[in-house]
Amino acid sequence: MERLQKVISQAGIASRRESESIITAGRVTVNGKVVTELGVKVDPVKDKVRVDGKLIRGEKLVYLLLFKPKGVVSTLSDPEGRETVAQLVSDAPQRVYPVGRLDYNTEGALLLTNDGELTHALLHPSRHVKKTYIARVKGIPAEEKLDKLRTGIKLDDGMTAPAEVYLLEADQQKGDARIEITIHEGRNHQVRRMCDAIGYSVKQLKRVSFAFLTLEGLKRGQYRSLTDDEVKKLK
Ligand code: URA
Repeated sequence: MERLQKVISQAGIASRRESESIITAGRVTVNGKVVTELGVKVDPVKDKVRVDGKLIRGEKLVYLLLFKPKGVVSTLSDPEGRETVAQLVSDAPQRVYPVGRLDYNTEGALLLTNDGELTHALLHPSRHVKKTYIARVKGIPAEEKLDKLRTGIKLDDGMTAPAEVYLLEADQQKGDARIEITIHEGRNHQVRRMCDAIGYSVKQLKRVSFAFLTLEGLKRGQYRSLTDDEVKKLK
């Protein structure tokens, strides 16, 4: 049994707080009866919960971690007909949605779920979810350049928060380097733009972790379900 406001917010209709207002405003029925009290417990699968008359599907919540390969879009459909992450998880028991995006040419850890409330929470800037990337860049950046990323750098949409940055490898022969960058923001193309801003373009980008979830045990294109403990830890 779950609290009514949780069932509504998990359906992705509204945040937890908004769900509470929807209930107290008398817009919610459970098995045909209006419920205005907060804290009423319902069975999300068996009870018929309606908001403004519209039935909420009490789906089983599914949480997947996908190793998104390069060359796949992280949306559910693509007008250009490119392969999508939805195709890679098409045998999942429920329709799931990506938590944020990875660029078409970025590979790595992507969480997918039908838990709208958790998605909302993880993407909220105040949550500061850490994401770690390994970037192969053209050229070998000096530590002073990397320090600019460590303190924060000006992008066209404002200063970035300080990032954790390590030079992992410098290949003098190829003239490129591998750097590890951990950020907790989620702006569009952020890592590529940060590297461009210090003068080193990204040739390859991989997200090696999202929060505490890593790619361990996954091959490109594979996914796994999160364990109950992992789900608890994310919430
Ligand atoms: N930063 C980028 O530039 N691209 C991604 O896909 C993710 C973070």
